[in-house]
Amino acid sequence: MSNHSNRAARRSAAKQHRVAISGYRARAGRTLITYLVDVDDLPPAPLLRAAGEFWLDGLARASPQRRCIVCDMPFADRRDVGGVLLSHPARAARLASVSGVCHACFAGDLAAIERAVEKLLGQIVIGGVLESMHIEW
Ligand SMILES: [Zn+2]
Repeated sequence: MSNHSNRAARRSAAKQHRVAISGYRARAGRTLITYLVDVDDLPPAPLLRAAGEFWLDGLARASPQRRCIVCDMPFADRRDVGGVLLSHPARAARLASVSGVCHACFAGDLAAIERAVEKLLGQIVIGGVLESMHIEW
């Protein structure tokens, strides 16, 4: 397989992830919209793109060192990141949170990523569940 088709396959997998993990809704009604995207395919929305780029640019200087939310691997810099998880409140989307997934986990088991995302987001909005939402850009 050529590099080009490897990349195309990886992008296709990323798009499936993006559709599968795009909403996190708590029973209390507080909702986060989440995006799990390829590190090279940040959403065009200015808030999300800026938050993602700021987070990626700061990885090399981050203290404590930031880690993959699935396997806990430390990120030396943006080259270690395969996917980026961006979240913002469904209402008043002026703030966004950013987390990273390493290349191996991003290419791996979606269920493992979903468990890690629910654990992470459960610290912000308690009792929520992930649900699929179609958000296109
Ligand atoms: Zn990982």
